[in-house]
Amino acid sequence: MLKTLYNGGVRMKRLLIALALWMALCAGAFAQVRNATVTYTYLGVQLRGYRVGEEFMIPLDRVTELGWSATSSTVGAKISAEGKTIQVPTRQIEGSTCIALRDFVQKMDGMSTWIPGGFDALEVVSAIKSVSVKSGELSIYAGLKIKPTVSLLGTSDPKVVIDLEGARLAPGVQFELDSTAKVSQYRPNNVRIVLNLSYAPTLPQGPLANAQNIVIDFNPSQVAPVEPAKNDPPKTTTTPKIDPTPPIQPADDLTIQRGNEDEMATELLVSVPKPGWKGIATIRRPSRDTVEVAMPTFSAKLAELEKDLSKHLKSVQLRQDTGLTVLSFKLAGRMGAVLDPSANGFKITFVHPAGNGSLKGKVIVIDAGHGGKFPGTGNGVYTEKLLSLATAQAVKRALEAEGAQVIMTRDKDTHFRENLADDLVYRADVANRNNADVFMSFHYDDPGGNKTPPSGTKSIYHGGRDADKYLAECIQEYIKSEGPLPNLGAIDDHKFAHESGFSVLRNSKMPAILMECAFVRNPTDRKAILTEKFRDGIAKCVVKGLKQFFGQK
Ligand SMILES: [Zn+2]
Repeated sequence: MLKTLYNGGVRMKRLLIALALWMALCAGAFAQVRNATVTYTYLGVQLRGYRVGEEFMIPLDRVTELGWSATSSTVGAKISAEGKTIQVPTRQIEGSTCIALRDFVQKMDGMSTWIPGGFDALEVVSAIKSVSVKSGELSIYAGLKIKPTVSLLGTSDPKVVIDLEGARLAPGVQFELDSTAKVSQYRPNNVRIVLNLSYAPTLPQGPLANAQNIVIDFNPSQVAPVEPAKNDPPKTTTTPKIDPTPPIQPADDLTIQRGNEDEMATELLVSVPKPGWKGIATIRRPSRDTVEVAMPTFSAKLAELEKDLSKHLKSVQLRQDTGLTVLSFKLAGRMGAVLDPSANGFKITFVHPAGNGSLKGKVIVIDAGHGGKFPGTGNGVYTEKLLSLATAQAVKRALEAEGAQVIMTRDKDTHFRENLADDLVYRADVANRNNADVFMSFHYDDPGGNKTPPSGTKSIYHGGRDADKYLAECIQEYIKSEGPLPNLGAIDDHKFAHESGFSVLRNSKMPAILMECAFVRNPTDRKAILTEKFRDGIAKCVVKGLKQFFGQK
């Protein structure tokens, strides 16, 4: 009995070790989920999803934005796209039902590649399966849809150029070309067909409709005056006439124009030449006074800058840097930088700090979230209104030690208005009436549901307000390097309240943020948040972040 029990114990131990290993492996696999974007080059559409290893997981509801239809069941999802229906497995990621996009695209005869340079950005292109040119008729067959653009070059010796943007020649592509036609992979995402005709055809107008199978008739008898027939029978070939070296594109200009400028911020509008711009760019800070925008590589030269573009800007430089094209701004000092990509390039906003890094005399309004009849989330000692007040008081002490003038919306367990919406407006009003330099609201989080929430601290700003975003980034930078819990980033409030953002942030007239200090149901956070050490840790990051926001050298 004893022996059996002992053996059972060893077996149990082994089982537990195996289980622990398996769990560690799973945790590793799940930890690799990163936010990512996908560009459907052939449609010009960009959507968000998740990168998991080499795969791109896309939420089912976003698949419909491509004109595909999706129905999910207990065994997976059925996707209908481009005339095919395919059953695929699904997986839950951050509460969304997702499918493996790269696998699906491959099944649809499309191609996808991750853009090099660490952008977590995927490109999907259509694969050209066959091109045939004979008797004045061009016929193209592609896996995903394509949208040819037809143009005419020259008149006496006319050349018709058909560009298939967002397309690549598939391995084993079939060609059936007469002597008039030449096909090349002109750019990485552009297949070009050139027809050397002996007559000027009437061309289809502009870009054609998206389709998988495209037939264009260039027959002179139908589209142009009849030319004397040439006694030159069409030559058929199955060997691809692919140009081994696509022509080198002359470098286009990258231009920078002045946007709005006021005391708080300077906007610059950067337009990036078309073949290079993929809608993807990230900000880097190689030194205190340098901000760089890194993009997937392309060739361009910087156009001459307007004189006195901005007094906050010392110089601008464009350079190539191992697979990246980098636009480097040398600034008059450390500033916030906010990037807004658009269809033709991006807007970059530099937020100038208002001060010399000292908090002396700065008016800072601190709001302990909730209170009185509005307890917030949590219960018992973890009730949000109690935690937020204790944290606000710790922050107040730390700021006052730096000489700041701190005004608290409440210093006891109370509410201000009978109705929650009015109560929130009142809090922002305290900051507005006092002409505060900064408004900060402190909260504790619980996303609800049964799952254990993540551990960490985040700062939320009102989307579209660049100074507020910079303030949130300054504080999170210190949360990341020395905060008591992990950094969950600076986050746009529209992520939580889609239409309006957060009332306290929207209604305050100065830079404002709302900090969610921790999650009341996360076991790590629960251990930390009742301690003074935790609150002082948050306060220290707030002080350092604010000093940076106010221009510390
Ligand atoms: Zn709250």
